[in-house]
Amino acid sequence: MTTLPHRALTRRIMLEGTALALAAAALPPFAHSARAAAPAAGQQAPGIYRYKIGAYEITAINDGTWYRPLDDKFVKNAAFADVQKALSDQFLPTDTVPIPFTALAVNTGSKLILLDTGTGGQLAPTAGTMSANMAAAGIDPKSVDTIVISHFHPDHINGIKTKDGQKVFPNAEINVPAPEWAFWMDDAKMNAAPDGARGAFLNARRIFSDIAGEVKRFDPGVEVAPGITSIAAYGHTLGHTAFAIASGNQSMLYLADTTNNPWLFVRNPEWQAIFDADGAMAANTRKKMLDRASADKMIVHGYHFPFPASGYIARTAKGYDLVPVMWQPQPL
Ligand SMILES: [Zn+2]
Repeated sequence: MTTLPHRALTRRIMLEGTALALAAAALPPFAHSARAAAPAAGQQAPGIYRYKIGAYEITAINDGTWYRPLDDKFVKNAAFADVQKALSDQFLPTDTVPIPFTALAVNTGSKLILLDTGTGGQLAPTAGTMSANMAAAGIDPKSVDTIVISHFHPDHINGIKTKDGQKVFPNAEINVPAPEWAFWMDDAKMNAAPDGARGAFLNARRIFSDIAGEVKRFDPGVEVAPGITSIAAYGHTLGHTAFAIASGNQSMLYLADTTNNPWLFVRNPEWQAIFDADGAMAANTRKKMLDRASADKMIVHGYHFPFPASGYIARTAKGYDLVPVMWQPQPL
């Protein structure tokens, strides 16, 4: 156990601290008052991270984190104690799961493409930093040419509009997976859904109904924007779509919600999250995608990975692991 060394260490630090305090007390008073203390900033610094894939400039844009209370239903097919241990092994609390949101902007040189749009500040008080982070990244929402959506859960589509229904990206063409549209905009499916699930259907209507004529629907497997190919990754939702981004001889994988919290679902790809519409299908898709990412050694972006949400997937004896990217120096 680590308890004893930790206590011993704490005691040592305390003793040293006392010695320092005594030494400081012996100094003349001006040594303390020469400078005013710098005020604490009290807020997080901008959450943006840039790297290159071939000639493309990629910008990960953070939209904050939702701290979801953890209960024994969060992972549908694992013992609660195992789920809590997986979190505590990662020095995370065991009563909440942090679920960060990070969208991705791809500048191809001629087009600015946004993959998913964040929560629009409409989901959790600790999320909704995307527009401030875009501003910090020097990206004007008016300059976004194309929006590509992975699936219709609110944390991916709500950023399309403000709370009062104004378009956030007025010049962007919006592209969505055809099977997502078919599912979420189907009144019969909405009416058949249990009460708790109806909100997501209504939300999809709030975002898309009045702009339906402008929304392009694509079948997964096609190129949706220059160098960006959609990949059917069904299971999390029935039309959930991932994207391969390729430029020159480099490529990366935008996993969207193929896996939620990586310390749970990358390490244990067979675990099924409460959010997965078809848990078995989602687990199957997850294993295939993680396998491909580890074999091809390509950068992946996971929408709910810890910021900058970009890394590599390594194979382990039990499953896989996320290896975060190393911060890239300037210039890119
Ligand atoms: Zn999501």
